[in-house]
Amino acid sequence: MTSTLASSGAAALVPLRPGMFTVPDRIEAPVHLLGSRCRQCGEPFFPKRVYCAACTSGDMADVEFADSGEIDTFTIVRQQPPNSVMVPPYAIVRVRLDDGPSIQTVMATDDIASARIGQRVQLAARRLMEDEAGNTVVSFMARPVAT
Ligand SMILES: [Zn+2]
Repeated sequence: MTSTLASSGAAALVPLRPGMFTVPDRIEAPVHLLGSRCRQCGEPFFPKRVYCAACTSGDMADVEFADSGEIDTFTIVRQQPPNSVMVPPYAIVRVRLDDGPSIQTVMATDDIASARIGQRVQLAARRLMEDEAGNTVVSFMARPVAT
């Protein structure tokens, strides 16, 4: 395996799935999820929807949700699922975003001691792996915020 160390601080961060979240210029920087909000009833959705699941309206606005919220519930994963890039132990957390829907994400090993209901978190870019071009593939994860 060859080294893919970045030659400068401006190495490209590539999202695991394009169009799901804003991609910051560095690891650990805040991430905003890209979703929809119904113009008729106000219901927020992540990921984006064409029709509102609450009132069936097709009048949906693209929105960039807040990068912070609170853990609703969580579970600790101690075994690595087949083909997963996540290294256990880690936490799967349900987060109620401050201005949006309840979303599911993970807390990495170094943060799981903070996994508890009511914990304030911020969504941040986390490294998953390097791709074949040497880019850093990132996803979003919840990081505990001191309150
Ligand atoms: Zn609606």
